[in-house]
Amino acid sequence: MKLLDAPTKIQLQQSDYPEHTLLTPGPTPIHPRAMKALTRPMLGHMDAEVFKVNEAIQRDLRQMYGTAPGAFTALLAGTGSLGMEAGFANLVESGDEVVVCANGSFGRRMAEMVTRYGGHVRLVTAPLGEAINPADLAEHLPGAAMVAVVHGETSTGVLNPVPAIAELVRSSGALLTVDAVTTAGMEPFQMAQWGVDYAYTGAQKCLSAPPGLAPIAISERAFARYAARRTPTPLWYCDFGGLRDYWTDHTYHHTVPVNLHFAFEQALRAALEEGLEARQARVAAMGRAITAALTPHGFSHYVRSPEHRLPTVLALRLPEGLDDAGVRAELRRREISITGGLGPTAGLIWRLGLMGEAARPAPYRVLMSALEDILGFRGLGRAFEAALAQEWDVLATA
Ligand SMILES: *Cc1c(COP(=O)(O)O)cnc(C)c1O
Repeated sequence: MKLLDAPTKIQLQQSDYPEHTLLTPGPTPIHPRAMKALTRPMLGHMDAEVFKVNEAIQRDLRQMYGTAPGAFTALLAGTGSLGMEAGFANLVESGDEVVVCANGSFGRRMAEMVTRYGGHVRLVTAPLGEAINPADLAEHLPGAAMVAVVHGETSTGVLNPVPAIAELVRSSGALLTVDAVTTAGMEPFQMAQWGVDYAYTGAQKCLSAPPGLAPIAISERAFARYAARRTPTPLWYCDFGGLRDYWTDHTYHHTVPVNLHFAFEQALRAALEEGLEARQARVAAMGRAITAALTPHGFSHYVRSPEHRLPTVLALRLPEGLDDAGVRAELRRREISITGGLGPTAGLIWRLGLMGEAARPAPYRVLMSALEDILGFRGLGRAFEAALAQEWDVLATA
């Protein structure tokens, strides 16, 4: 008689699947250390070893976000949007006035969520491709319970001036929520210094971990606001108190995705070992090299003002007559993914991802060589090499 034995162990090879060059603004290629940790033998979510992993993650998140002492960090079992939703679910109560800076699709997503949790939205906008002007907030601040802003608006490649906005918000007494999805982990984020109360990102963006986790940070002040709620948080799964039960007191709340925690721990550690300043320099160097190679062929920056260009999502206006959909379909056929515009910018721009492991010379060499071939841009590959050589001092160590 044959015993009902476990499935036989299989050795998966990367070569079982086609190589893919993933240069979208998320997800990003998974860091090799995270990939390895993902295959660690499964442990229970209440295992002492898992609590050790969690503690290391919490400590490293405090460093990544630049939190003040007393801040609480954790992972939510969901993507970046859950990080966004958890902030509003816990910190907005019915009837609260919430200033939402919305100059792109993720800012508008924030406004939609605030409304669903009973908040009144005071919308601050900016023309497409432009940053929020901090001066536009002033008239909306009196009586506001919270201000929410997206740091790097992925849909347009715009970097909003969070430090200047934070400075204004600080004197108003409102809480400040910042979407750090395209910035935290790729450059220094100064939650304490700027005065940010709630920040979140997604594991699959700047940290190059698998999708499915939202790293969050909550200031002491925001936690106190949560604790003083008149009614319980309507989203039970992400209740800040429930998170604290598990992450601090080690009591059961829900089953966390343990294998994603293993992978995330390694991806975050790798980022901090490289250093946030070094990562910021790497992204900037890559952005300059790509732009230098493509501008002679008619590409140009979509965001006019240099200080408002988001370094991690390079938004380039396409040359006249380029067949956007056709070229991207041909790239995909060659196992290369890039992203076009959204809504009003569809067909007008490309958005090239420079988050995490995407911001390296090797994958962009693959893209440049494919574009040279598809579009007949003679010498593009060589021009890119020359532009990379200009950035040698940064990229040689990257
Ligand atoms: C990707 C992204 C989100 C949403 O994250 P998901 O992981 O897709 O849920 C939110 N904000 C910004 C700025 C993003 O780029």
